[in-house]
Amino acid sequence: MATVALTLKEIEELARATLSKNGCDERNTEALTRTIVTAERDGSVSHGLFRLPGYVASLNSGKVKGDADPKVVRKTPAIISVDGDGGYAPLALEVGVPALADAATEIGVAVMAATNVHHFAALWPETEALAERGLIGMACVCYKRMVAPAGGKKALWGTNPISFAWPRPGKDPMVYDMATSAMAMGEIQVAARDGHAVPPGTGLGPNGEETTDPALIEKGVLLPFGGYKGSAIAMMVELLAAGAVGEQFSFEAHASDPPDGGPPRGGEFLLAMSPELMAGPGWEEHCESFFAEYEGMEGTRMPGARRDANRLDSGPRHINEALVEKIRSL
Ligand code: NDP
Repeated sequence: MATVALTLKEIEELARATLSKNGCDERNTEALTRTIVTAERDGSVSHGLFRLPGYVASLNSGKVKGDADPKVVRKTPAIISVDGDGGYAPLALEVGVPALADAATEIGVAVMAATNVHHFAALWPETEALAERGLIGMACVCYKRMVAPAGGKKALWGTNPISFAWPRPGKDPMVYDMATSAMAMGEIQVAARDGHAVPPGTGLGPNGEETTDPALIEKGVLLPFGGYKGSAIAMMVELLAAGAVGEQFSFEAHASDPPDGGPPRGGEFLLAMSPELMAGPGWEEHCESFFAEYEGMEGTRMPGARRDANRLDSGPRHINEALVEKIRSL
């Protein structure tokens, strides 16, 4: 795969110029640019520049508003409601997450229901932001139907990611962020582009046949991770991010979404909890003793450690050449 070396500054300038030339106002451009740059910085390659052509496609089709002005309302002491005004999720999150963190810090637990947003990114930035405020964070979103429930051959829900973050004062928080499908669709697309096979059990081809060819899985369905157990977690994500929030389920989004290459309208569910208010003083040392047991075991590594290590690399990122050319043409 031919690549182009771009510094993080060059990635930032490329994202900013592309978004602002394609109908994003300054606040939305800056929020989306931060999302793209942090993804590339941390090696979340399927959710950085790779998503930029899709962001632009939905700005140009008019499906997503480039001048969205998200509004935050504290509906009850524990429920923060964010109407994303039909824009991309990053700005809605930037205005909503501080309000969620304030509420959870004050009363111990709070949820944020984001509606009318288009989410096309990783979830770890929002849960990490909560952990950096000393809170336990959880986030999930659904998408369009592309994953078959365990036992099925037809798609019902999305790749339905879930992220969980645990605060570790003085250290990087523990953050995991994972699709509940055996593989994220972005990773399938990258594998298809780069000509790599994927592991058995990742998905089925267009006729319900087992395959390791990502190009066939793109035309067929993905499978949940972990059989019926992963399937149950994916169902929980669907119910929280659509049913509890009051937004579209993946099957509804699929039916209503114009297929322009960008993400459908949907919701996001976030939960924040204060270990300080629940467990009380001493929780940090207690939990650090748990992490020491975990990390002391041969073969383990902390979820998020790969991203944390990538973050320390201030050198250029090696971006797919065809992708960079495509973005420059936009
Ligand atoms: P991965 O399977 O690559 O990783 C999942 C998690 O497991 C990460 O937190 C990762 O940490 C951790 N991990 C990986 N290997 C190990 C290990 N050996 N030991 C301990 N922890 C480990 O992620 P996915 O492919 O499932 O998801 C990729 C991204 O796609 C996510 O950011 C997700 O939010 C995003 N996504 C977004 C969607 C949307 O609609 N917006 C839809 C679906 C997915 P680390 O990062 O450090 O490797």
